[in-house]
Amino acid sequence: MNRDEAILRELNLYPQWVRRAAAPVAAEPAVVAPIAVAELDPVASRAEQPAPVAEPGVSTADNCADLGWAELKARVQSCTACALRAGCKQTVFGVGDEQADWLFVGEGPGADEDERGEPFVGQAGQLLDNMLMAIRLKRGKSVYITNVVKCRPPGNRAPEAAEIRQCLPYLQRQIQLVRPKVIVALGKTAALALLGVDATLGSLRGKVHDCQGTPLIITYHPAYLLRTPADKAKAWQDLCLAVSTMNGLVD
Ligand code: URA
Repeated sequence: MNRDEAILRELNLYPQWVRRAAAPVAAEPAVVAPIAVAELDPVASRAEQPAPVAEPGVSTADNCADLGWAELKARVQSCTACALRAGCKQTVFGVGDEQADWLFVGEGPGADEDERGEPFVGQAGQLLDNMLMAIRLKRGKSVYITNVVKCRPPGNRAPEAAEIRQCLPYLQRQIQLVRPKVIVALGKTAALALLGVDATLGSLRGKVHDCQGTPLIITYHPAYLLRTPADKAKAWQDLCLAVSTMNGLVD
């Protein structure tokens, strides 16, 4: 056993972890790989599905990878790619510092958010604000908050895989524009959408994942924590991991 293997064994990481080959140096600015969400849809994989072709008069997230903030916001506002827009009052784009170090991603707007046009303004939002305060953060101060889907799903149901697939390019573009140092996924929908895998939240917590080259920490959704306060202690552990990840980053 060589020295590196011995260190990994000491940390309980060997032999599960395999060292990755160094990434080749990109000659061009790196193009962010699309997040695969096909796995979220048990019925059809994306490979089998042709890219959605916009019907005339339908605005979608296609080709939004070059848009600036204003154009992106306008595109989201006019988006009719899925049925959610018809059932909500307004789109909920995101809020906060557009150059934030921290990006928090929830699932989708609820009734309060749909009313106000801002993410996490209801009870779950109050808890999120308290979670931010616990790690000395404040909404809007180097913090950006958004959701996987920008329109409220009816009856506060979880967004469906097809809805997530349609909306995800907006979130991907927000990530490129904000260029956060650390992303925190709030709940399973955000975690799976950002990682493009299917897994339990429990199996994803406690690790630093990679999302478009940015460290991603996964924790419980504040609405779940309101229902299950006993898990707040675990959420606190996740937030501590997020803070230590941020603190460990070298500029
Ligand atoms: N839940 C979410 O996931 N997002 C919100 O904006 C509000 C509640």
